[in-house]
Amino acid sequence: MRLVFATNNTHKIHEIQKLIDPSIELLSLKDIGCEDEIPEDQQTLEGNAAQKSFFIYDRYGVNCFADDTGLEIEALDGEPGVISARYAGEERDAEKNMNLVLDKLSIIKNRKARFRTVISLVIDGRETQFEGVVEGHILKEKRGNTGFGYDPIFQPEESDLSFAQMPVEQKNKISHRGRAVQKLVEYLTQIDPDDKV
Ligand code: IMP
Repeated sequence: MRLVFATNNTHKIHEIQKLIDPSIELLSLKDIGCEDEIPEDQQTLEGNAAQKSFFIYDRYGVNCFADDTGLEIEALDGEPGVISARYAGEERDAEKNMNLVLDKLSIIKNRKARFRTVISLVIDGRETQFEGVVEGHILKEKRGNTGFGYDPIFQPEESDLSFAQMPVEQKNKISHRGRAVQKLVEYLTQIDPDDKV
């Protein structure tokens, strides 16, 4: 089966290709000649993931999946959530986003937070969603310099380290995205080969 991952992030594609059965050939948007700006203007992670996967399925007629991730902070009613990438503005600046979170939580005791990833898989026009969650809390200051996004200020329950202090393999094992991908991979492994295209 050929499966398109609706992302321009080649790092994510390599990461997932390593996890899935070699009988599934993972293609990038570039591989199918897609240079469209894929819309993601929904109010939820579920909505955005589905919007992206159906955009590709409807236009290119290929089986595909897309993901969407958000940091959900309990004391901020789930913010930044679906606007995690542009929390502090359209320039999508990770430093500014983290500073805004630290400012907003400066006098708040409850620092519970979680990362949540939703993957939307569309095969022959039928959608299945997979969710991955990692619970943790927001640190008082940034720690570590690997990873990206909010990694320096997020510490998962499973560790004394922030995501940005962990080797990427360690993060992938417990991360929201790692968990959602694991569910996707298990599902793809079970699909009847006769159903594959
Ligand atoms: P995306 O849906 O994977 O593009 O993620 C949206 C935004 O969530 C990113 O721009 C980051 O700000 C944040 N984010 C997603 N995954 C992670 C992660 O693993 N660590 C830190 N921040 C993340």
